[in-house]
Amino acid sequence: MSRAVLSIGSNVGDSLAHLQSVVDGLGDRVLAISPVYATAPWGGVEQQDFLNAVLVVDDPALDCFGWLRRGQQLEAEADRVRSVRWGPRTLDVDIVTCDQVRSDDPELTLPHPRAHERAFVLVPWLDVEPDAMLPVEGKVTRVETLLAALDEDERAGVRRTQLALKRRSG
Ligand code: ATP
Ligand code: CA
Ligand code: CA
Repeated sequence: MSRAVLSIGSNVGDSLAHLQSVVDGLGDRVLAISPVYATAPWGGVEQQDFLNAVLVVDDPALDCFGWLRRGQQLEAEADRVRSVRWGPRTLDVDIVTCDQVRSDDPELTLPHPRAHERAFVLVPWLDVEPDAMLPVEGKVTRVETLLAALDEDERAGVRRTQLALKRRSG
C-alpha cells in the first residue's frame, strides 16, 4: 500500500489535456488535485512555459516502483519522446514522495532530489497539503519554509491559472 505525491508537467501539445490524462488514468487513486500553474522552464533549456500541477494519490496495490512505472506508462501514452535533459516534453510524471520511503537508487530516488529547489513543485503541493513536510539532506522541513527560502525569481516564475483538472466520474 502506498500514498504518493506526484508532480506532473507538460509544455508540448495540448498540455492541459496531457495533465488531465494523468487524472483520468489514475481514476479513483487520486485523492487531491492542485490548481494548474503556468511555470517558467527549469534547468536552462530555452523552451515554452510549462503547465504544472501536483496530485496526491493512493493505491493499496502499488508500491513506490509501481508509481514510477505507472507514471512512465502515462508518459508513453502521451507520446513522450526522451531527448534533451530538462527539455520540452508532452508529459512528465515525477514521484516527489512516496510514503516515508527514502532511497538513493538512481532509478527511483525518494524523495525526488530536486523537488525542494522547485517552486513549480512546492507551490501546488502546498495548495493540496498546507502542512506538508519534506526531508532534505536528512532534515525534515516544512514545505512552506523550503518555498520561502527560494529565490524570488524562482517563485515569481510560477503563476496560478484559471485552468482546472477535473475528476471524471466513471
Ligand atoms: P528531473 O528528475 O530533474 O525532474 P526529468 O524529469 O526531466 O528530470 P526524466 O528524463 O523524466 O528526468 O527521468 C530520468 C530518470 O529519473 C527516469 O528514468 C527515472 O527512473 C529516474 N527517477 C529517479 N527518481 C525519480 C523520481 N522520484 N520520480 C521520477 N523519476 C525518477
Ligand atoms: Ca521532472
Ligand atoms: Ca521525470
